[in-house]
Amino acid sequence: MNKITDTEDLFCSQWFQMPGWTYPQDLNQRTLDIARRRLREIAYHEAGHIAARAFTGLDYSHILWVSVIPDEDEGCGWGVLSRGYNAEWDFADSTPLGLGYQVLLRLLAGSVAGIRGTVDPEYREELQDDWNYWEWESDEEDFPRAEEISHMLARRHHPAHHIIRQAKQWTEEMLDRPDVWQCVKTLAGMLLREGTLSAREIYPAMDRVVGIHGLKGVDRRKWLRRFAQK
Ligand SMILES: [Zn+2]
Repeated sequence: MNKITDTEDLFCSQWFQMPGWTYPQDLNQRTLDIARRRLREIAYHEAGHIAARAFTGLDYSHILWVSVIPDEDEGCGWGVLSRGYNAEWDFADSTPLGLGYQVLLRLLAGSVAGIRGTVDPEYREELQDDWNYWEWESDEEDFPRAEEISHMLARRHHPAHHIIRQAKQWTEEMLDRPDVWQCVKTLAGMLLREGTLSAREIYPAMDRVVGIHGLKGVDRRKWLRRFAQK
């Protein structure tokens, strides 16, 4: 068995105790390989959420911690937000479409970053199929939440499935950007090294992406227009 890092060790000891774990609980080359690809996917997934938050210009001053170490209550891959923060979750029929897209891009960026960060070709294909065919496991939250939001944002000439299709396309486009992807890579690398990151460690990487409102470059207007829709 090749050398195991502290984060991998901690990850395995927690993950093997979780209800979803169906393999033997002892650490051998096979279980380590399974754990490694999942750990890597989670690190990129969480980093994707964070980078998207920075890029779309959503507030991030309330993020306290982000971790890839499974937790009994939080599951695999989680973040801790300060209490009382719910602005993004109070969706109503009057919620502007643009804000809806900002939140949808943040939600969907996790999956796309997880796919792009995965190196195991078979596993990557599996994840890619879930994304393409919009399928999810029962314990997954991002897709069902996006689905829910798309229905709340739906307009007469802009049905929910159009909104999802658009949000998926823009999520891919956002992660194609070198600045956003650099942020994902940096944060994923930090998460793989440290396991858990505090706000103080996360903010500098996010600040470099600056958020849409400080974004320079040719397509700034395009993104601002997308996020300004009524
Ligand atoms: Zn997620």
